Amino acid sequence: MNDPTRDPLRDRLFAAACCLLAAACATNPATGRREFALMSEAQEIEVGRELDVEVQREMGVYDDRALQDYVDGLGQRLARESHRPNLPWQFTVVDVPAVNAFALPGGFIYVTRGILAYMDSEAQLAGVLGHEIGHVTARHAVQSYTRATGASLGLLFGGIFVPQVRPFGDLAQTGLGLLFLRYGRDDEIEADRLGAGYTAATGWNPAAVPAFLNTLSRITELSDRRGVPNWLSTHPQAEDRVERVQETVARLNTESPGRRWEENRDPYLDRVNGVVFGDNPREGIVRGRAFLHPDMRFALEFPEGWEINNGKEQVVAKMPGQEVYMILQLVDRPEGRTIDAIAAANMRRIGLRETAGGATTINGLEAYLGVYQGRLNEIGDVTMRAAHIREGRSVYLLAGFAPPALYQAQEPGLSAAIRSFRTLSRGEAENIRPNRVALYTARAGDTWQSIAERRGAGIVPAATLAIMNGHAVDEQPRAGERLKIVVAE
Ligand SMILES: [Zn+2]
Repeated sequence: MNDPTRDPLRDRLFAAACCLLAAACATNPATGRREFALMSEAQEIEVGRELDVEVQREMGVYDDRALQDYVDGLGQRLARESHRPNLPWQFTVVDVPAVNAFALPGGFIYVTRGILAYMDSEAQLAGVLGHEIGHVTARHAVQSYTRATGASLGLLFGGIFVPQVRPFGDLAQTGLGLLFLRYGRDDEIEADRLGAGYTAATGWNPAAVPAFLNTLSRITELSDRRGVPNWLSTHPQAEDRVERVQETVARLNTESPGRRWEENRDPYLDRVNGVVFGDNPREGIVRGRAFLHPDMRFALEFPEGWEINNGKEQVVAKMPGQEVYMILQLVDRPEGRTIDAIAAANMRRIGLRETAGGATTINGLEAYLGVYQGRLNEIGDVTMRAAHIREGRSVYLLAGFAPPALYQAQEPGLSAAIRSFRTLSRGEAENIRPNRVALYTARAGDTWQSIAERRGAGIVPAATLAIMNGHAVDEQPRAGERLKIVVAE
């Protein structure tokens, strides 16, 4: 007979309940508030590590060791002054053209190469990293995860399309969508305040935080960035926040009278000189409706007006406002010798049933073109037109699909896009070069307009140059001022 008080299962349940209680009622390290959170610090770090793998795979790490070390070094200095110095802090520049910065639970912080071009000093970079550190130390992301997902975190990592291969670069439909949860206004104001504090504690000028918020407001006014989640959509209300963080800056200045803060503009400009601006051809580039990949040497044209998302593992195009998609991806380890066999095995793996199909050529390339039906997770029943195309040693899957009721009307457009797949000539591929940040010293009489046309070959407009250099659009550069410009390679 067992002693009921010595039941090992009961002991384990009791221990688990204690853990839950401990996690459920934690003191927030940055704010001192007692609050409810489902995650312990160990879980928070674990979730961060898992999502970090996703971020690095989906967005890519920008290939510049010296720049990565610079950003990480700066971030580590700030993190040591933060309320949670012992987290496994990590600061990464991701290979993304959009202007963005974000944080994962556990201390994983990212800035895009796109945002680096718009910062105008080391102090501004410190301010942005400090702000993101503030989101982590105040556990805003943990709170958001708790609110958004409850216990269903596991679902975030599920595939939609092909179980073995990550589906759809569409951030909103994958785990990464959650990274772009909008924080609330109070969280933003708190992160600004914490960020300015960490920036000042490390010796950089905390006034860089409101200064860069002004730059972000100017970008919002100017841009209609197409559907790419950026810092402005995930960190709302920049104008409103400037006033609030000015109060913190004033307080920090009062607390350290006569303190000379570091701005470090010139060293920062030297660091970002040469950084890729806009699409990086090494990952393929979108030019209007065309997608071109100079390294893999192919091109195609999606239907006019579609949103194109160039993810790390697939390109996804979507018809605006409709559940009609096209997807392009490399077939992972094609099974079979003939293109017919490869297509059959791959579609079996995806779980769709062929209703018609045959071998063909597409612009001289061996292909198998079929029509398929079945069900895709989170999309539902679809009819799909899919081509498996052999290009050199690679096999691509290029497919368009829609709910069966919409398919007939879309079929001509999907077919035309599939038929546009072609090899890029060596000459065409070599002509696709990235644009890069370069430095230029303004001369007397220079205007943003004249610099944009003469030095920058019109790649970015005058207003963008002004904003990149911390100026209002109607405020001209001073003679002798060192400026960031954008040039073709
Ligand atoms: Zn924020």
